[in-house]
Amino acid sequence: MSMFGKILIANRGEIALRIQRACRELGIRTVVVHSEADTEAKYVKLADESVCIGPAPASQSYLNIPAIISAAEVTDAEAIHPGYGFLSENADFADKVEKSGFVFIGPYPENIRAMGDKVSAKAAMIKAGVPCVPGSEGALPESPAEIVKIARKVGYPVIIKASGGGGGRGMRVVHTEAALLNAVSLTRQEAQAAFSNPMVYMEKFLENPRHIEIQVLADEHKNAVFLGERDCSMQRRHQKVIEEAPAPDLSARVRDRVGERCVEACKKIGYRGAGTFEFLYENGEFFFIEMNTRVQVEHPVTEMITGIDIVQAQIRIAAGEKLPFRQRDIQFRGHALECRINAEDPYKFTPSPGKITSYHPPGGPGIRVDSHVYQGYVVPPHYDSMVGKVIAYGATRDQAIRRMRIALSEMVVEGILTNIPLHQDLLNDKGFIKGGASIHYLEQKLAQEKKKVGK
Ligand code: ADP
Repeated sequence: MSMFGKILIANRGEIALRIQRACRELGIRTVVVHSEADTEAKYVKLADESVCIGPAPASQSYLNIPAIISAAEVTDAEAIHPGYGFLSENADFADKVEKSGFVFIGPYPENIRAMGDKVSAKAAMIKAGVPCVPGSEGALPESPAEIVKIARKVGYPVIIKASGGGGGRGMRVVHTEAALLNAVSLTRQEAQAAFSNPMVYMEKFLENPRHIEIQVLADEHKNAVFLGERDCSMQRRHQKVIEEAPAPDLSARVRDRVGERCVEACKKIGYRGAGTFEFLYENGEFFFIEMNTRVQVEHPVTEMITGIDIVQAQIRIAAGEKLPFRQRDIQFRGHALECRINAEDPYKFTPSPGKITSYHPPGGPGIRVDSHVYQGYVVPPHYDSMVGKVIAYGATRDQAIRRMRIALSEMVVEGILTNIPLHQDLLNDKGFIKGGASIHYLEQKLAQEKKKVGK
């Protein structure tokens, strides 16, 4: 198959612009679909064509499958890039795109479906030799006596998780046998209400892990590689705040071992496209928790240390090309950090949409800004609060941190509140500077500070 002439971008914000830039570099024309709230966005005007697909609420626009497919039909696009969030991990959407005669820039629908169901994802990983968190074999049975038995075997504390869960919802930690059965039935009810799937499973609850994930690329010719790891342990309410690559203090040997297992898994499940294997990492061991079958917000840190453009790779893979490199060609150089800039109160975390009255992005050696905003841009209240990402690259982690501090000190965003002060605080925090903190570090730090000021 030859390269696409025109791609439709079914997303908004910084990732819509990121995909548009990748297309331009490949000489591909772009169609951007947008809601009524995003009509004035600059990236919409920059696209070769744009189609308004509905009112502001995502359910009527960015999640409106028939409207997106008709937009592809009327503009004669050949392929659809879903970005992240919205429809990117919706297997039915991928199916409909392909059945309507377009190429879905992502994995096969059956890959998305299998990985979207956590019980089936975990079963596939165990089969492929990827290390998983110890727990129930598949979904929990109905029998209370059986559930109690499984929990005793796994050992407390345990976590009950919804098979259809996502976005940090549908999970419950259980510390004692007395609380177990009630927790299972509550999680089942919630899972049924939120994901229309009451299936739950059990895992050992890891007390102090780091979040480390492996980026992979696989083509339809049975080639697959891993592009190293990212440490995304700086989180608040399961939302990543700062990401970095490589992970501090992780040996190349340990990384390569888990990376090779991920590559094997891609081959076993017949995976195509970019993907991320998410792990919890504790006491030198990796435990798989889930696979994301799309490009991730934090993909730039991997691009910075490998020199590989992941979005272009997604497009080339979808067009049927072979991966242009093998594992041994991939080298990791230097260190990269990403700070997610959100339109929100830096202390209370309430969203802060509105007009940006003044905007000066940072620059200088090693600095990359992925953002769609500009002076006069109005951040709409309807969507995620992330307005951009600042990425800093350095020869060492220390240099990347220094460059990030300078970048954030130069950056001006006025008219709305942003979390830049939180990032500045973290970049001067001893625990963060040391590297290798757990997923609870940021929340613990915030809780301590709240106590100090007596709020
Ligand atoms: P989601 O799809 O909702 O993001 P994940 O399975 O990726 O769900 O888990 C989200 C977060 O929940 C993890 O990043 C981690 O903080 C916590 N978590 C999940 N499973 C475990 C576990 N077995 N032990 C400790 N924490 C866990």
